[in-house]
Amino acid sequence: MCPECYSADNRITPLLEPRNCLENHTQYICGTCGRCICIDKDEKREVQRWKFPFRTLDIAKLYLRTADVSTKTPCGIYEITGNKGRKSFKIFAGTDDLLTYLAKNKDKTCEQMKPLFQQESFHESPKTQIRKLSQQEVETYLQEQNSTHI
Ligand SMILES: [Zn+2]
Ligand SMILES: [Zn+2]
Repeated sequence: MCPECYSADNRITPLLEPRNCLENHTQYICGTCGRCICIDKDEKREVQRWKFPFRTLDIAKLYLRTADVSTKTPCGIYEITGNKGRKSFKIFAGTDDLLTYLAKNKDKTCEQMKPLFQQESFHESPKTQIRKLSQQEVETYLQEQNSTHI
């Protein structure tokens, strides 16, 4: 697992429409393994990717670093239960943010009220860059992504 971005696979992201994401969205470029993580705001919802609900804990982990960097704190991944018992995973900077979310979303609950995954502390990573990729970097990254995911 990469100690900086918490992923074992350094080209797993972007998961959906990788070319569109890499060409158009600002990326967190891991200074340790080179993995690109979308840190941009969604055009429609005006929120960063890490604030969305995730289907699984593993997918949420892939975006956790962008949450930590954005808030400069070790954020936690919480399991949220919706109506009809549907589970999702959401990242919050802390319990206060979770409580605010639950207060606004009365149909959602959080059974454990504590994170399933969280770093002990927040570390800056001096080699990391947050920017858009050049076209050449996009092509190289997509090639690497394809060759590791056959
Ligand atoms: Zn993106
Ligand atoms: Zn990494």
